[in-house]
Amino acid sequence: MKKLFKCSACGYVHEGEDAPDKCPKCGAPKEKFNQLDEEATNKVYTADRTNDIHMELINLATKIQKLAEEGIEINLDPPCVGVFNNAKDEAWVIKQRSKAELAGHVGKGKW
Ligand SMILES: [Zn+2]
Repeated sequence: MKKLFKCSACGYVHEGEDAPDKCPKCGAPKEKFNQLDEEATNKVYTADRTNDIHMELINLATKIQKLAEEGIEINLDPPCVGVFNNAKDEAWVIKQRSKAELAGHVGKGKW
């Protein structure tokens, strides 16, 4: 398994043989990095794909919101607008649910 080092200043996680000379996110020096133990490293790698999937769901839900707004704007007839309003509301739920799950992952070190 590859080694992971976490910046204690900002939480950025670096992958490599050694910590970077400087944090690419906040600029903190190498001494600010701590190597993650095996359990913490496993959490980061096992959550990597699911975090990506949540972000993709958020992106798709954003597309649904935009499409629904376009449909609402066209205003063909009330049932049609109703369907778009529902789709917009449901997309919001999908987005917020995945955001809450991602926040949970971060809190548990699964990032
Ligand atoms: Zn940093």
